[in-house]
Amino acid sequence: MDIDSRADELESLIGQHQDLYYNGHPAISDAEFDALWDELTKLRPGSPILVRVGQDAVDGFPKAAHVLPMGSQAKAADPEEFLAWCAKIRHPEYVAELKMDGASIELQYEEGMLVRAVTRGDGLVGDDITPNAKRMAGVPGRLPQPWSGAARGEVLMTRQTLARYFPDKANCRNAANGIMKRKDGIGAERLEVLCYDVAPRGAFDRPGPGTLDLFEGPRILPPFDDEITKMEWLAATGFRTVAYEVFTEPYEVVDYRARVVAGRDAMDHDIDGLVVKGRRVDLEDMRRARPERQIAFKFPLEQAVSTLIDVEWSESGATFTPIAIVQPVRIAGTTVQRANLANTNTIRGMGLRIGSRVIVVKRGEIIPKIEGLVEDLPDSREILAPQACSCGAVLIDEGTRLYCPNRDCPKKAIHRLEKWLSVLNIMEFGPAILRRLFDSGRVVSIADLYTLEPEELASYERMGATSAGKVIQNLRSRSTVSLADFIAGFDIEGIGVLMVEKAAAAGFDTLEKLRNAPSEVLSGIDGFGEITARVISDGLKELATAMDKVLATGALSIRSADASAGPLSGKSFCFTGELLSMKRPMAEARVKALGGSTRSSVAKGLSYLVTNDPKSGSGKNRKAMELGIPVIGEDEFLAILDGKAPGR
Ligand SMILES: [Zn+2]
Repeated sequence: MDIDSRADELESLIGQHQDLYYNGHPAISDAEFDALWDELTKLRPGSPILVRVGQDAVDGFPKAAHVLPMGSQAKAADPEEFLAWCAKIRHPEYVAELKMDGASIELQYEEGMLVRAVTRGDGLVGDDITPNAKRMAGVPGRLPQPWSGAARGEVLMTRQTLARYFPDKANCRNAANGIMKRKDGIGAERLEVLCYDVAPRGAFDRPGPGTLDLFEGPRILPPFDDEITKMEWLAATGFRTVAYEVFTEPYEVVDYRARVVAGRDAMDHDIDGLVVKGRRVDLEDMRRARPERQIAFKFPLEQAVSTLIDVEWSESGATFTPIAIVQPVRIAGTTVQRANLANTNTIRGMGLRIGSRVIVVKRGEIIPKIEGLVEDLPDSREILAPQACSCGAVLIDEGTRLYCPNRDCPKKAIHRLEKWLSVLNIMEFGPAILRRLFDSGRVVSIADLYTLEPEELASYERMGATSAGKVIQNLRSRSTVSLADFIAGFDIEGIGVLMVEKAAAAGFDTLEKLRNAPSEVLSGIDGFGEITARVISDGLKELATAMDKVLATGALSIRSADASAGPLSGKSFCFTGELLSMKRPMAEARVKALGGSTRSSVAKGLSYLVTNDPKSGSGKNRKAMELGIPVIGEDEFLAILDGKAPGR
């Protein structure tokens, strides 16, 4: 036998044995197979059959463009991020699909015939692997109707197939990825495609030039305008579809995720989260690089299912926070018995009860959290929140916060003192001595702290003269504090050091400036919103006397802001026309807060004219041009305010 015929024979043998192997009926041992392989490698090193699974066999596939856009997906790592997205987007109905962990594929049909199957590639163009796709389950070669368009799905391998036929592969996704791109197509019949999206041909075409003015946006007709009818159409047309459920309440999706997480070990496929979409299809959004109407709601990395056995209410100042006590459970090497429940909205939203089976999640260093209800058990009972504070006041349940509304609540007062000592890092002043001073009525406000003398303090039980002296020295040593520490030390709910620093960076860097700023102006600060602005504004009013009393003791002063008096010092701004992001008085207030000044007319020496319409030909515009004064738009103005553009 000459070399060529022996090589032909070897190719044919290797092909047969590969087929037998991948079909689960190997006829020869691995060693015998390797011997054939080695012989062929010597005789015909370039043989196309000498490409092993997992080697990059992709090159050589023709390239093809996608029909459906493939933008990057927004992600929510936990229920908080997911609920924040829901609050922003507000869909009337949510379609929650299982997010399959496989390899993406687009199946393109013309007149009912499968013409192309395209891998993800770079998102726009992928490899055309049609011959392989035709061998996969769930890929109809011919549709029952002469339909043209594309279906998007995920190429998957079941866990059972992986264990039985491809035990050398790391996981189902790697196996599916490698096999779908084999040039010889071997193993493709062990893959399946589950679809989750579809659109008819032309849905994403842009109108040609000349029609643009009349174009009112793309139209998409039933059944492709609705996620559910889309999925029903896919199933009726012969595709396999991913599992999904429809919900109206965001918290229902949170619990659905918990159920899937709890049950996923028993599933056929690897799943790495949910994809949550609004039910109505929005083509404009799908075209975006980052579509907004859908989100990937990821699964936690480390979680366990446990039973909620009790809820404790932890008190901090006026606020009561629920803490879940769960049946001890191991997560990531530690035993978890307590988990954060956030607030009463969380409890009601998830429908938690004492006795419920819940998902407990641990992320890095953060305390464990309950992230959803898996199932309710028959003998479960309602979680009761406390109704009244120890001061007698009826608690207010705002959903996000359960608190005592009594301004004179002793708990609020002592918490403020504790907060003050902690923000100013006055460690020697321990909680026990503070409690004694508070209970005796000697120290009930921050100013009272500064009237204490060592001799008096020493007279309190178990406090010697030396330690009393140390405590007072420690307290008095913090004689200048930053504005952020001063305000944060007064324990205004939700106003920490960071928030005050943000306000200071925006130019509100003295107590006076902050007190005088209307809350509408404060709400324009980067990182603030209406609520934060109102809380800080109201808090400063309510605490004005208490703050002044502290400053009046003379024991402490607020460190003055940098002497340069603000980053816009020496700059002047004139406005013409409307601004989009804020009203003119607010714009002027923000300039002044940063140390700049404002002018009502354009004159020599003006630093900037701010206008959204530089071509308007207004008197101010022309004058600025003549004088060579820079004319800037709103974007640039905002960038200057935020310190993101030169000009300061
Ligand atoms: Zn109270």
